[in-house]
Amino acid sequence: MPSFYDFAIVCQSLSQTQSRLQMAETVGTFLAKLDLDEAEIAARFIVGRAVEQGEEKRIQMSGRAIWKIVAEMTDSADQGEDIFAAAEDFGEAVEMTLKLRAADPEPTLTIRELNEKFVAIAAIEGRHARNRKLDALRELFARASASEARYIAKILIGEMRHGMSEGLMLEAIARMGARPVSEVRRIHMLEADLGRVVRIIRSPGAGKTVAGESSAGALAHSTRAVKPLKPMLAFPAADVADAFAVLGPDLSLEHKLDGARVQIHHLADGRVRIFSRRLNEITGSIPDVVETVNRIGARHAILDGEVIGVDASGRPAAFQDLMRRFGRTRDVEKARAEQALKLYVFDVLALDGALTIDRPWADRISALEELKSSAGLEIVERVIRPDLAAAEKFYADAVAAGYEGVMAKSLASAYTPGARGRGWLKIKHTHTLDLVIVAAEWGYGRRHGWLSNYHLAARDQHSAGFAVLGKTFKGLSDEQFRAMTERLLALKTAESHGVVSVRPEVVVEVAYNDIQRSPNYDAGMALRFARIVRIRDDKTPEQADSIDAVIADYERQMIRPLADKV
Ligand code: AMP
Repeated sequence: MPSFYDFAIVCQSLSQTQSRLQMAETVGTFLAKLDLDEAEIAARFIVGRAVEQGEEKRIQMSGRAIWKIVAEMTDSADQGEDIFAAAEDFGEAVEMTLKLRAADPEPTLTIRELNEKFVAIAAIEGRHARNRKLDALRELFARASASEARYIAKILIGEMRHGMSEGLMLEAIARMGARPVSEVRRIHMLEADLGRVVRIIRSPGAGKTVAGESSAGALAHSTRAVKPLKPMLAFPAADVADAFAVLGPDLSLEHKLDGARVQIHHLADGRVRIFSRRLNEITGSIPDVVETVNRIGARHAILDGEVIGVDASGRPAAFQDLMRRFGRTRDVEKARAEQALKLYVFDVLALDGALTIDRPWADRISALEELKSSAGLEIVERVIRPDLAAAEKFYADAVAAGYEGVMAKSLASAYTPGARGRGWLKIKHTHTLDLVIVAAEWGYGRRHGWLSNYHLAARDQHSAGFAVLGKTFKGLSDEQFRAMTERLLALKTAESHGVVSVRPEVVVEVAYNDIQRSPNYDAGMALRFARIVRIRDDKTPEQADSIDAVIADYERQMIRPLADKV
């Protein structure tokens, strides 16, 4: 039976090849050799996930905490700078440090054992939880060989650096089970977690059930009814005319609300579970939304919607005030009294036991309207099949009324979980991109002591990494600078010449005036006059904008003035 050391060797071989085909083959073959439980775990580990999707928060370990442990174990805190300078990444730094021990333990860990340790660490709660988690981790590192520790550290901080993206992992799983990639992707859309995909593909006949179930229904009593689906994402469009050009005239336009995304599972027995855009469960934090949804009575439904904060007179509240309510576990009632919430539903993913995601949007609109009239659920305002003039008026009115913009949706489109389909386009009145902070510089003058100049990067979907396209220190309040400094230091991976590199985890929405070609940045492009308009804690780095979105914006900027002249 392959051990965790074999796993480490596979990861090492991945970092030595650029060929996607070969990577999928290597991983597929490796997974096929493992038993079901281990394959499920290994699929997650290989992409840098220590625990199941949705459980990440409970294990969160910063690179700083890990480094502190291994440096203490080897009394090498003062050699940190040299080690990090010599190591190619964080994992190698951990390995080099642990090699300083008098004796390197034999590698004996199994994949299953490591998973058990991670699950146990994640489960530690209550008094001194943080310290007890660190103690458990210290024990784990004491037992691991240096080469095992390298990959334990990489998995914990979620940075494998071997280029195995989630998409490529799906190809590997397809090879493992000798099944078509399309089927694996489809299951992943529904299941969200790679480990569960492996389980379904490996269990005899199960893949077929899932694929068939979407049309056949039969969801109501399955446990999967409470597993979150990945939210569908939208692609940016320049303006209403652009949306017509892409989608054609069979579209709807609706208000784009400036709140937080929620996915609501209402079971026929009245139980409700609500998930954030990042698929964290937030049911306990928002009892008022639970009460609203309960109005649908003894019916099963999965709904997609947006929650906004409102003040006493019903006007929208600031995004930060809204986020304060999400994920809150203590003083929920007090928070509820301070900040009221309002739910707007904008899609129906399942109803009365059947998944509706494959049904055309026009049918799902009917389902929404039916829920509005039968249960009084608030749905977003929309126009269906407007002509261009009516659409432009709808957009102008929406912006004048203070909305962020509008969403254009093709009436024929399916709901594609996790995918940035062309079925949904977002049209905003200011141009913003959701970018990831990958490094920051120590400020000077008024910003002395804070990390302030943030290096902003877009997702590079080809390399599964991030490409920097600008820097900014504009947009945050003093209080936000202070909090951001603390947050980024916990994500620090290296520091040199006043620039602190961090794990790419924090997403910020950045407004800019235009995009220029620039040789100074990885992306070959630079944002002009970038400023942070808000911190997007509701988005994961995978949900940030890609280089393609930036290129599309750049091209639009070049084409528009010409097109306007014709
Ligand atoms: P963005 O966050 O800028 O990528 O825009 C997409 C987000 O807009 C979605 O994830 C939702 O949270 C939000 N949103 C607001 N109103 C709507 C709507 N009517 N339809 C879909 N998404 C909406």
